[in-house]
Amino acid sequence: MAPAAVVTSSEPVSTTVDKLPLSNGHDAKSQYQELDASKLTYTFTTNPRPVPDEESACAGTETICTDHMITASWDIVTGWSTPELRPYGPLSLMPTASVLHYATECFEGLKAYRGYDGKLRLFRPDCNARRMLLSSTRISLPAFDPRELERLILALMAVDGPRWLPRDRKGSFLYLRPTLIGTQPQLGVQAPRQALLFITASFMPRMDAPPGGMRLHTSPEDMVRAWVGGFGYAKVGANYGPSLLATQEARKRGFGQVLWLYGPEGYCTEAGASNFFVIWRTPASEGGRLQLVTAPLDDKLILDGVTRRSVLQLARERLAEELDVVERRYTIGEVLKASREGRLIESFAAGTAYFVCPVSAIHHRGEDIEIPMIKGEGGQYTSKLKNWMRDIMYGNEQHEWGVVVEEREQ
Ligand SMILES: *Cc1c(COP(=O)(O)O)cnc(C)c1O
Repeated sequence: MAPAAVVTSSEPVSTTVDKLPLSNGHDAKSQYQELDASKLTYTFTTNPRPVPDEESACAGTETICTDHMITASWDIVTGWSTPELRPYGPLSLMPTASVLHYATECFEGLKAYRGYDGKLRLFRPDCNARRMLLSSTRISLPAFDPRELERLILALMAVDGPRWLPRDRKGSFLYLRPTLIGTQPQLGVQAPRQALLFITASFMPRMDAPPGGMRLHTSPEDMVRAWVGGFGYAKVGANYGPSLLATQEARKRGFGQVLWLYGPEGYCTEAGASNFFVIWRTPASEGGRLQLVTAPLDDKLILDGVTRRSVLQLARERLAEELDVVERRYTIGEVLKASREGRLIESFAAGTAYFVCPVSAIHHRGEDIEIPMIKGEGGQYTSKLKNWMRDIMYGNEQHEWGVVVEEREQ
């Protein structure tokens, strides 16, 4: 049975990470092996590299990874190989490998945080693992039990965490990148029968507080990032390469990211590879209510960000008396109008890479929206949400979202 068969054509692809196929539908007697983190083998590097400081690690043009990575291969008949933790290094692929031609690739991005209490934590890794399954099956890559992927991610950090994110680097993080690619060396346009999962850990610069705030330029009139019926809700590589042209153009004009609009109405969707939020007051005629507004998930245009859902949940739990949380389609025209009428209060982008990043300006077809920054930071609600998230990530607040890594003794 092809891995694509977990998604039948009569059944739309699930976009909520909560109900997903866990297995490839093989019966117990077949030789098919499920992904099994308990079988992980360890081959440690004999040549551990010096750990750079954060600043120099991010200064170059190459991502600096830790000493080890985890790999597991998959074959449609035999299933998942024994996962291996092994020295970080190049992969070997045939030039005809599916991923290199048909973008059979998906990935995840999450961070490991060195807490102020000395513990190492991941933030809601179960959400990333489930989303990876959603992305994988969307592009005919194999299914797996997301709990096994989560265990593998924890295992990599258990080994490389102590040395690469030492206890004296409280308040620092590493970036984890689980990736799945189609490796079958055959040029036929078809679902790959072989795949490779790998997980790396690396340095990544802090991007949550660019001087003067994040400045956004709306997308060109003739481009969209994702479309209804497409795959904007999946973290597949095919979403990103084609968006870089617009980002490059926006950068040339002095902006940090593209605010991707959709359709002739100009619906606000995402800011680069982050979810986008505004806080505005509704017109007096509509009650003058304070609202935190972001694009909805149901039309499958945007990614179901872990940061997004966490921000929404915290706002609903802790700011309910002050503002309403609204997930709905809204247009750049509404944002412009709110700005002109003095009702636009705050805006931010949210995602693992940019964390919660205040937006200070939006340029749209000759018009500039300025959003006031307080002491170079976002407004009071942006700051509150950011601090609550940070406290959970770095263990200042004990919360079920913070998953502690049991580190291996060195
Ligand atoms: C990864 C990503 C996000 C953010 O998701 P998080 O889970 O919060 O990191 C948002 N939008 C796009 C398009 C992304 O690729």
